[in-house]
Amino acid sequence: MQVLVYGAGQLAQMLYLAGVPMGIHCLAVDVGTRDIVHPVSKDVMPVSYTQALADADVVTVEFEHVPDLLLAEAEASGKLKPNYPSIAIGADRVKEKNLLSRLDIANCQYEIITDVAQLTGICQRLGERIILKASRDGYDGYGQWRIKEPADITALQTELAELDLHKVPLVAEVMVDFERELSILGARKENGEMVFYPLAENLHYQGQLHVSVAPAQNVNSDLQAQAEAYFRKIADHLDFVGLLAVELFQVGDQLLVNELAPRVHNSGHWSMVGCDASQFANHLRAICDLPLGDTHARKVHAMLNVIAFDKPDKRLLATPEVNLHWYDKGYRPKRKMGHINLSAANYTELGQRIDSLRAYLPHSAFPCLAATAKKLQA
Ligand code: AMP
Repeated sequence: MQVLVYGAGQLAQMLYLAGVPMGIHCLAVDVGTRDIVHPVSKDVMPVSYTQALADADVVTVEFEHVPDLLLAEAEASGKLKPNYPSIAIGADRVKEKNLLSRLDIANCQYEIITDVAQLTGICQRLGERIILKASRDGYDGYGQWRIKEPADITALQTELAELDLHKVPLVAEVMVDFERELSILGARKENGEMVFYPLAENLHYQGQLHVSVAPAQNVNSDLQAQAEAYFRKIADHLDFVGLLAVELFQVGDQLLVNELAPRVHNSGHWSMVGCDASQFANHLRAICDLPLGDTHARKVHAMLNVIAFDKPDKRLLATPEVNLHWYDKGYRPKRKMGHINLSAANYTELGQRIDSLRAYLPHSAFPCLAATAKKLQA
């Protein structure tokens, strides 16, 4: 089978690698140039975009911010999975919020801002601590402004006045004092069949994911069921096909949906070593209409993102059950360069292993490791 992936980054690379043993051949579209590239080597392939689209059995995306024109062409091919509305919702926070409200799924209280004048008095309505998020093209903490007191709004007026808020509105959201961040990932087939991965706990630093632990600690069956119920409602409503990630905040026993990602997700990279079928394998199985694979966690797992750090000491591989996945990308500040997957028999051992890796991974680039290791060993 031939799969054409819009986007040629590390997620396309990992989809490619998962496809090889199943006889599924992925090619990637560089959405900037329309070149068809090999998802691993990034070599430009001797085939036109139009031909590759015609040759593909299935067309999919590795990220939701695919230019509209390309996405419309993909949809017109009749082969796009997940469908256009699912991808468009993931790319637009206003659409996402409207969907959550329509489905009556708990999320953070919010207002849609299409004019800076609407910010007047917002702290009286939503509270003093607010997060403003650009509704489109924001990711990893870009396009976000944190308000800690009303004076911050005044200070931001000039910067925000330069944005075209009618075209790209802001979502103003209450800053929630959550206990932790979780995500539920699952795969759904055209016939409605679904599988779910166990909840992962995610640690962010400056708006970027740094560490995931899966299965998350202290998850009772009610919490997992709540997350799966949200997932089911969303995926069924969208008639979603493929892998979907739902990012969550836990407040007491309640889960609030923060964000949807209609694609394979960074918080599911642990499944490459942790499950019989990784998120990449199950995405391909779902979109190619093959049986879905087992999603049980074999052991306990952690995924450490390697961000803006380009020379990890390979001696770290001497630590048992540690794997490095390198994306072979040029260095840029805040750029994800690779990730490290670790497994262990229990959380204490997982914490010890993270501790032993700290000798190779400096705190400046890996600011969440000490706290994660300590929490796991508590
Ligand atoms: P997002 O791009 O919406 O995933 O936001 C990036 C990160 O900012 C999240 O993973 C949270 O750590 C934090 N964040 C986003 N929205 C909120 C909120 N309403 N309250 C508190 N923290 C938030």
